Amino acid sequence: MPKPNRGDISHGQPSAITGRALPEIRGRVTLSLSQSQCDVSEDLSRYRASIVFFECLRFLSKPIMSQELRNRIFSELDDVAIIDPHTHINPLEAASANLADILGYHYYTELAHSSGLSRESIEAPDLDPQDKVRLLFQNLGPLNNTIQYSWFVEIAREFLDFDEDVLLPEHADLLWETAATKMGGEDWESQVIEKSRLTKIFLTNDFDDPLEGFDTDRYVPCLRTDDLVFHFSKKEVRERLQTTTSIDVRDSATLKDSLRQLFVHFTQKNARACAISLPPSFAPKKISEARVDRAIAQLQQRGEEAETVDKEAVSLAVFWQLAELCREFKLPFDLMIGVNRSVYPEGVFQGQDLYDSRVSLIQYQELFNAFPEVVFPVSVLASVTNQELTSYAWIFPNVITHGHWWYSNTPAFIEADLAARLEAVPRTKQIGYYSDMYKLEFALPKFRMYKRILAKVLAERFVMDRHWGEERAVDLGLQVLQRNSEQIFFD
Ligand SMILES: [Zn+2]
Repeated sequence: MPKPNRGDISHGQPSAITGRALPEIRGRVTLSLSQSQCDVSEDLSRYRASIVFFECLRFLSKPIMSQELRNRIFSELDDVAIIDPHTHINPLEAASANLADILGYHYYTELAHSSGLSRESIEAPDLDPQDKVRLLFQNLGPLNNTIQYSWFVEIAREFLDFDEDVLLPEHADLLWETAATKMGGEDWESQVIEKSRLTKIFLTNDFDDPLEGFDTDRYVPCLRTDDLVFHFSKKEVRERLQTTTSIDVRDSATLKDSLRQLFVHFTQKNARACAISLPPSFAPKKISEARVDRAIAQLQQRGEEAETVDKEAVSLAVFWQLAELCREFKLPFDLMIGVNRSVYPEGVFQGQDLYDSRVSLIQYQELFNAFPEVVFPVSVLASVTNQELTSYAWIFPNVITHGHWWYSNTPAFIEADLAARLEAVPRTKQIGYYSDMYKLEFALPKFRMYKRILAKVLAERFVMDRHWGEERAVDLGLQVLQRNSEQIFFD
């Protein structure tokens, strides 16, 4: 019987014991094994003992190698400057002013509320910011398993000199003081941006935002259009539009003129995308101009009292015209699909909305077919829609997978969704991640969470399972993390 050698084991020969092909083992592994660990009985032949030894070696070394490989890939991914293609940053107050700005993020307030803290105490109007921080610290215990909690720990460790892994109520005042000192420094915003390796940060701008007082090269405007599409029946929205554009919208033609003015203003201010979040029920389609004219007339006369069919007709018309203007102005149209607002109206601020798994991208069939020239970076609210998104991006040249939004933005869902995209969608059509942050300090922990998962998927599914070289895997990671955002929004 031939004696197995290392070459047999490391070149994918079937194992004599399991019959499965052994993966190629790369790198150097130092192991100390005793016979008892391998459970090799005295009467096994030398050959079988060798096989058992190599099986043990493989079993024990795989996780070590995988972890080392992941760490190496992560450090390559963590070493590059990145664009954040979707945030809610206010460029005039981009960084946190105190610790309440961080702990006031809806993830903490909604989780604290979900685990028992009353909304009234979280949102008490006269609550002092430091007392709010103390209150939340007292209620972090039930959340300390969550990934959102780990973002806060990472912020505290990276930015606030904290060196513990767990935040306890007694840490509240010390961290408050440290944050006050650091955040009060003149260059805090620049320090955070530099440490987070951010080059450009996309904003979410109301259509009537003057876009003044900030550097639009760093803070890139993005025209958010929810109000126009879904709240056009509100007098206040129509008045804002009229004030901004000096056009009185009376019909389909004047609607188009006024929307075009917004696109002119935004693109002159360096806007690189138009964006909207969409409820699960929305299904875009083109409707006739005559129908739009009648519906707008109804809204002008009756406002929010207008019939639902007329409000829906105007929503469809505004949305369709926005897509036409994206084509004309060559702006990507970010679609954030699937959010049901106010599912839990008693929830804390921004902690009321949820997804509805009944949404389907088939509702967007007419849109994707009608606008082959428009790039649609599509985000889905929940992982349950990811397979559809993966398939649509696989088939439609104009559909791009865009980040891991909200309820799908936790590691378990990111890992599954990312792996599915990486193995089935062209590598040029995936924008890996955006932070969705409200304050700059969150970019670092959120992007690092993503990069750790990206490194894991690349290590396990590309280097180990598909025998890709490490450099090649890193290059794929950098493309989805960094280069695609540049090409899709700036080329
Ligand atoms: Zn957002």
